[in-house]
Amino acid sequence: MSARIISGTEIAAQIREELKKEVAELKEKHGIVPGLITILVGKNPASVSYVTGKQKTAHELGFYSLQDDQPENISEADLLKLIDKYNNDPKIHGILVQLPIPKHIDEKKVLNAINPDKDVDAFHPVNVGRLMIGGDEAKFLPCTPAGIQELIMRSGFETSGAEVVVVGRSNIVGKPIANMLLQKGKGANATVTVVHTGTKNLEAHCKRADILIVAAGVPHLVKPEWIKPGACVIDVGVNRVGEKISEKTGKTVPILRGDVDFDAAKEIAGAITPVPGGVGPMTITMLMKNTVTSAKMAAGIK
Ligand code: NAP
Repeated sequence: MSARIISGTEIAAQIREELKKEVAELKEKHGIVPGLITILVGKNPASVSYVTGKQKTAHELGFYSLQDDQPENISEADLLKLIDKYNNDPKIHGILVQLPIPKHIDEKKVLNAINPDKDVDAFHPVNVGRLMIGGDEAKFLPCTPAGIQELIMRSGFETSGAEVVVVGRSNIVGKPIANMLLQKGKGANATVTVVHTGTKNLEAHCKRADILIVAAGVPHLVKPEWIKPGACVIDVGVNRVGEKISEKTGKTVPILRGDVDFDAAKEIAGAITPVPGGVGPMTITMLMKNTVTSAKMAAGIK
């Protein structure tokens, strides 16, 4: 039987509708408008497109949102000053510096300069620590892992007691999602294994997974025979494997492939995310959710 497709596009749209209502209510009842600043250094085309998408979504949700474009040659000191300005701006609740930034600037210094209470990407060491502690301590969850957790929960998969295997241990996906799912509480309480290039028998671990989360960045790394029948498969990988002409626009677009062989895996899995249209649409949505949370925190609203 073919797996149920977990549509990130649909679930993200649902969450955005919920956020839109929440933003309207915050405005009406409390006079609060969530504020998001995106800082872009240089003109890297992929970064321009990511930042444009974030701004567009923020506008649609009714945020106060600003785009701050800075030249490629901005000094580290000036970028840090700019962050400090937004740290002290009460209209701004979320600060996002689009990565990557030019090599002459220390990325760590920049991310660490953001006030942790406005760090809606949740990359600041304080927020990483809060996530490790879990419970009420975690103010913001990093966007891609938060999106993955929502996809699992909203598609009705029980995480409590489940065997979860995470392929990949990056700071932005693998490590945080593993930490989130092992916490005690709703949408978590799982038994989590993290596998990586040092793992001896990747296949054996994957085969045990009730929930398999793959974030390796290797096209079709996970073979269909590695999947436990009925498992929930979350494919985070987005790999460009070529280009094609879009039927819709006539423009050249990248051919994207996930880390899981989708067509074959869907005959074995119970549910699976497609690429594109799975985890991708959730990431921006969770950034918006964090900004709303930050605005509420700043106003002392639970
Ligand atoms: P990353 O920093 O390159 O980390 C990849 C991880 O996978 C590493 O821990 C690596 O192990 C492990 N790995 C790589 N090849 C492996 C193999 N053959 N066997 C076992 N483990 C292997 O990547 P990332 O930033 O986490 O991203 C992963 C993928 O997700 C990429 O395709 C990226 O584009 C995509 N992504 C998508 C979104 C989204 O919103 N949809 C967001 C973020 C990332 P070692 O640590 O041992 O090297």
